[in-house]
Amino acid sequence: MIEPRLKVATCSLAGCFGCHMSLLDLDERLFDLAERVELDRSPLTDIKELGECDIGLIEGGVCNAENVHVLMEFRARCKTLIAIGACALNGGIPAMRNQFALKDCLEESYLRGVGLVDPQIPNDPEIPLLLAQVHPVHEVVKIDYFLPGCPPSADTIWTFVNQLLSGQPVALSYTQIHYD
Ligand code: SF4
Repeated sequence: MIEPRLKVATCSLAGCFGCHMSLLDLDERLFDLAERVELDRSPLTDIKELGECDIGLIEGGVCNAENVHVLMEFRARCKTLIAIGACALNGGIPAMRNQFALKDCLEESYLRGVGLVDPQIPNDPEIPLLLAQVHPVHEVVKIDYFLPGCPPSADTIWTFVNQLLSGQPVALSYTQIHYD
């Protein structure tokens, strides 16, 4: 009997898509993965609505109101939620803005930037409002697994995915865990 494939969704919040690129670095192992999982909503598919999933993979921290909404939706629909990469784990490089007031960041970018014509801070209601600070995802929802690295290597992702899909306890070796 053919085993049903696990449903997996992925998203990038305040991330750079580097963690997704590291996932694609699995190269030919992606064919093996495609036989075991089915992608739901993800930057790699055109699915707009998140379905009920077994696994959700979150790249990036939380920097605006839409990130909060997406993250809470992933928590509600995914049985297991995984934070992948430094940004999701601790806010990462984008959290360097936390040492400045949001007002100063906006004014520096949109009012005082070099070469600006008709400088103004964007305020269209379609644009999600920035949060005062960038947050790691675990400050918003419960996270089941954390995979560090900026980004985690494809080999680390592969070890992790295999252990997770086979139901083994996740145990990465010392050399597979890094934070840079
Ligand atoms: S952890 Fe690094 S690679 Fe991943 S989204 Fe953040 S900056 Fe990009």
